[in-house]
Amino acid sequence: MEIDSMVANSALIRAREGGGSKGRSWKWKEMLRFPHISQCMDLAMNIERDYYSLCVKQPIGKKLFELFCRSRPELQNYISLLDALEAFDSKSDEQRKEFGVSIIQRFLRSQKHEQSCIQSLELNPFKDVFHDYLHKYLSGETFIQYQESMFFDRFLQWNWFICLQPITKHAFRQYRLLGKGGFGEVWACQVRATGMMYACKKLEKTHVKKRKGEGMALNEKQILEGLDSRFVVNLAYAYETKHALCMVLTMMSGGDLKYHIHNIGSPGLDKERVRFYAAEVCCGLIHLHQKSILYRDLKPENILLDDNGHIRISDLGLAVRLTDGQLVRGRVGTVGYMAPEVIGHKHYGMSADWWGLGCLIYEMTAGQPPLRARGEHPKPSEMERRILTEQEEYGDKFSKQVKDLCSSLLNKDPAQRLGCRGSGGTEVQSHPFFEKVNFRMLEAGLVEPPFKPDPRLVYCSDVQDIEEFSSVKGVTLDQTDSNFYSQFITGSVPITWQNEMIETGCFRELNTFGPEGSRSPDLDW
Ligand code: ADP
Ligand code: MG
Ligand code: MG
Repeated sequence: MEIDSMVANSALIRAREGGGSKGRSWKWKEMLRFPHISQCMDLAMNIERDYYSLCVKQPIGKKLFELFCRSRPELQNYISLLDALEAFDSKSDEQRKEFGVSIIQRFLRSQKHEQSCIQSLELNPFKDVFHDYLHKYLSGETFIQYQESMFFDRFLQWNWFICLQPITKHAFRQYRLLGKGGFGEVWACQVRATGMMYACKKLEKTHVKKRKGEGMALNEKQILEGLDSRFVVNLAYAYETKHALCMVLTMMSGGDLKYHIHNIGSPGLDKERVRFYAAEVCCGLIHLHQKSILYRDLKPENILLDDNGHIRISDLGLAVRLTDGQLVRGRVGTVGYMAPEVIGHKHYGMSADWWGLGCLIYEMTAGQPPLRARGEHPKPSEMERRILTEQEEYGDKFSKQVKDLCSSLLNKDPAQRLGCRGSGGTEVQSHPFFEKVNFRMLEAGLVEPPFKPDPRLVYCSDVQDIEEFSSVKGVTLDQTDSNFYSQFITGSVPITWQNEMIETGCFRELNTFGPEGSRSPDLDW
């Protein structure tokens, strides 16, 4: 490895280790100084007063609402219920039924909801019966009182950063180059104010224009900002520099699955890893499909590992939103991974992604994609012919179950394919291969990954091995381009930004209040 590469890697490793408080700028408190509440009046007027969004979905909103409830003696019962529910969520399946009944007996006695709660619990112990009950209560009078409180004022102050603070390149420190994409490079970066590490995907403006990539870039950005899944990379910021449009994404430092399948040890992964990654990808696809998004680019290269060993789906450039269950057409994807109906110019829907999952599980198991021999690089037309007409083979690396799963997902007829026969992704989750997987715990992030990336390693090519990004000449940027940029550069994405504040400890350290009972939160340091 060359010296430059070693220096770049060790700078990144040090930043990662210091991630959080050590990585903050010494001026961080100044950068995150709350505006005076009088500066938040426009925000207060315009913010949508939706209980679910303000008090459940938004992480800082949820915390402040909870702090408010804790400050009210008459709500103590609800707080205890909230605490019990937190414990409930982390219980194993066996404990949940019993624990659930004890919660009902403790809190819902003599309530008219008791009977219906016990019934739902019996039908399905995993359903959030209590949460429904709790939110029904708290979204009434309590939510109205909350909006009159200093806790809501504080929420507006936090929101001011999200809505009114412009984001520029000065908000970040830049580390090494991580990879190269179609329109530009991806760099490791760190938010100066919080120490949070991210990956910044840059799209060179001249490249985007020359290759008419505006629609694709905006599509990827808009799809990402509408998602909030632990199995898909999150978008944290969208901003511009003089030469590039930038998407700041969840940092995935564990490398992609292509690297893990082909570059470490013998090609392929052991069965526990195959099961775990397949299960997480399956959840990610379900989240996308629930939002009517068809991903269309499933392949090992696009599945990235974080530092704990969980995966996220990345690179949503080819994803498409299907309105009202409509189908799409278009030969879109990567050669060798496209479903027969995609190759064959047919109209298709979510079936294309379940085919992709079949290819992924096949490749993780066999160490090579279906219908391709090791080291073989057939022409695209030959690959397509094989996908349309040939039957893939299953060597002795395949157990009976994984073979059955792959062949059901790789069914050439989309109507017969697993995942496409009415109940969608839950049908895939119910396959015997996943019998040992507890999807509720997996969804909650409570399953320990079978492999944890080494924090002292950088799982990507050396800096000098990543091909330099060529510049384009003779493209001039004009007003039409600026109009498009202004649609793209929407700044901070609320939920991701709020999670960043919480995860890095900035929320806890800054969210102090003045003397008890004072309405105006403490503004000076
Ligand atoms: P493109 O859409 O242009 O192909 P990608 O989104 O695939 O761009 O990113 C290009 C490369 O950058 C990837 O192959 C990967 O090596 C790296 N990369 C992308 N996103 C991340 C991320 N969130 N964390 C770490 N590396 C990333
Ligand atoms: Mg890519
Ligand atoms: Mg892409």
